[in-house]
Amino acid sequence: VGVLREPLSLPTLLDPVFWQGPMFDDTFEMQPTMFQPVGGMDRIPKAFHDRLKSVVRLGTEVKEIRNGDQDVKIVYRDKKTGRVQTVTADYCICTIPPRVLENLPANFSKPFADGIRQIPSGGANKIAWQSPRFWETDRQIYGGLSFVKRDVQLIWYPSGGYFQPSGVLIGCYNFDDVALRFMQQSIPDRLQASRDAIEALFPGRSQLLARGLTVAWNHVPYNLAPWTHWEEPYNAVYRLLDQPDGRVYLAGEHMSHISGWQEGSAQSAHRVLKLIAERNAAA
Ligand SMILES: Cc1cc2nc3c(=O)[nH]c(=O)nc-3n(C[C@H](O)[C@H](O)[C@H](O)COP(=O)(O)OP(=O)(O)OC[C@H]3O[C@@H](n4cnc5c(N)ncnc54)[C@H](O)[C@@H]3O)c2cc1C
Repeated sequence: VGVLREPLSLPTLLDPVFWQGPMFDDTFEMQPTMFQPVGGMDRIPKAFHDRLKSVVRLGTEVKEIRNGDQDVKIVYRDKKTGRVQTVTADYCICTIPPRVLENLPANFSKPFADGIRQIPSGGANKIAWQSPRFWETDRQIYGGLSFVKRDVQLIWYPSGGYFQPSGVLIGCYNFDDVALRFMQQSIPDRLQASRDAIEALFPGRSQLLARGLTVAWNHVPYNLAPWTHWEEPYNAVYRLLDQPDGRVYLAGEHMSHISGWQEGSAQSAHRVLKLIAERNAAA
């Protein structure tokens, strides 16, 4: 809950950016009781990997998907050795993100390949700084977000490690069209935009920000976008891709109604497993 420093004016009350803050917790995806994995989000795939070590082949890149009548073949390359191999299976559950998959050689049917190209992707950047915790010492801010009317859009305060000498401040988290525009700038310009936003909120403090790091998800190889935005989740493209193309099933965040969340990926994977089990039972 923020502290109002001045009476609310009519223009402020009519400004949608103003309402993003107070209403944020009321969207179904942003409940205040959400949990965070200790050690960071990637502890979740790491935990899966710990259990699945014998079947996961890290450092390998899928180069081609060949759908057949009796089986499906995946051509992959070991990135360390350069060795190219093929694995043959009854089915393929493909979780490669759409912006990568659309350029992967595959003998998908034309409607299916066209559908993959039509999956709508969003945009996102983050910028992180290491810094003494001036937001705690100056303003008693312990976690939460500041919504700013600039392209950096959000400043995100750490919700752990309170009272330690330093912490990681997210100095930008922006989305979609704004993010796609923002990532066109050079890295120094992006970092400067973040510094300027933090300086506006905490005058004199931006000089404490060090080790700036920025990630533009649409530039990350093997992702090429942060998440999917189905405007209409039950549309014809979704319905087409929701069914297998031969022996290939798509799964992942992009094949769920909970776009942009791990929950969506898990649900879509469960659904595909059920479809395959039903197909096998019917065979
Ligand atoms: C900035 C940001 C913040 C987020 N915050 C949250 C959050 O707080 N909570 C939450 O639940 N979700 C969050 N998400 C969403 C979450 O990360 C995704 O929904 C989830 O990771 C999607 O899982 P996935 O398995 O569908 O795809 P991914 O996790 O993208 O997995 C796809 C995998 O395919 C691999 N791959 C791609 N191409 C190839 C190839 N040719 N050969 C072999 N492998 C390949 C990639 O390397 C990757 O490992 C966030 C996402 C972003 C971008």
